[in-house]
Amino acid sequence: MKSVYLDNNATTSVAPEAVEAMMPYLTDIWGNASSVFYETGQRAEEALAALRKSVADNLGAANPNEIYFTASGCEADNWAVKGIAYANKRKGNHIITTKIEHHAILGACEFLEKQGFEVTYLDVDKYGFVTPEAVENAIKDNTILISIMTANNEIGTIMPIKEIAKVAKAHKIPFHTDAVQAIGHIPINVQELGVDMLSLSAHKFHGPKGVGVLYVKNGIRIENLIHGGGQERGKRAATENLAGIAGLAKALDMAVSNLDKNMAHMTKMRDMLIDGIRERVDYIKLNGPEGENRLCNNVNFSYEFIEGESILMRLNMKGIAASSGSACASGSLDPSHVLLAIGVPHEIAHGSIRFSVGSDTTEEEIKYVLDELPKIITGLRMMSPMYEAFEDGKLESFTAKLKEDK
Ligand SMILES: *Cc1c(COP(=O)(O)O)cnc(C)c1O
Repeated sequence: MKSVYLDNNATTSVAPEAVEAMMPYLTDIWGNASSVFYETGQRAEEALAALRKSVADNLGAANPNEIYFTASGCEADNWAVKGIAYANKRKGNHIITTKIEHHAILGACEFLEKQGFEVTYLDVDKYGFVTPEAVENAIKDNTILISIMTANNEIGTIMPIKEIAKVAKAHKIPFHTDAVQAIGHIPINVQELGVDMLSLSAHKFHGPKGVGVLYVKNGIRIENLIHGGGQERGKRAATENLAGIAGLAKALDMAVSNLDKNMAHMTKMRDMLIDGIRERVDYIKLNGPEGENRLCNNVNFSYEFIEGESILMRLNMKGIAASSGSACASGSLDPSHVLLAIGVPHEIAHGSIRFSVGSDTTEEEIKYVLDELPKIITGLRMMSPMYEAFEDGKLESFTAKLKEDK
């Protein structure tokens, strides 16, 4: 049977080159990078320094000591939010973020709210954008952190991060961005963007799972999230995951050096899928923006009158892997907080599917999906009481009305 993987916003396959880069640290160089009085420890420490420099260079950081390795994107996000909040709690208790952040950011903010911090969750427009003006208007005397994602994992919206960073800087407020979905999909240079902190996660760009980075610009005060030993310059205890870090560094190096080529290919695959679905299926809505402010690999449509889970199950029977909204939220019955924030009604949000292409997705795979998907949608609508009500004129179509309003 065919197997077509179109869930690259959830995770990516591990590049063979990344596996190869990890192997020495699982075999010969198994020493503890903090044990520098004998050879295998020294070799580990030297390797760690070189890997940190390579990551710093590929992110455009001024200094390798601004790179902190973590165990995930979620950890990096939690650390940025809680670490800045705790380090600055004498200055103020107000945090600004958006309604469409990843659950790692939203969960950390909700946790802080229970401890007396105040959080402004900015609204987004119907494409998922937040404006620098809206950020500026939300700033108060007691604002101590602004955290806004670079690119949204569900609907692909790319935020105006450089402009928002300028606002934060003008007000001398630390600015963090969750760039987990941005790496490998848009150019990322921390100094050009002007951000103070940035999160990334290796498994979203063909590196291994369980390893991430928090970039923290020198001069930014951040409290520890994990206490214990003196690793990561005393800021994050835990014996370093050298193999994981080597895999991350290699995957990042490849993502950066092949960026133009990969972006061009993924954009082509994305647009083939978007245009093809629009030609073949009625009563649908593309979620997120069109064109260049959309992640080059993200396709998210709502299909009216049916359930996303039923579509996924039938796609799976055809060997096609996709996702209904965010994988982190799957298992919950609530519709995606992102779709609700951009104004998609509950019942339509439930019928949404995200396809996310990869640098290895082929034209043939897209054509296969474009053959199978319309049959699945038609089949499910035939069984749908809502579709029947619509055909009997008892129910209005939300997407048909959207089209008229245009
Ligand atoms: C996947 C993801 C995360 C979490 O990264 P993990 O390494 O899986 O913990 C955070 N933010 C965004 C935008 C993501 O897509």
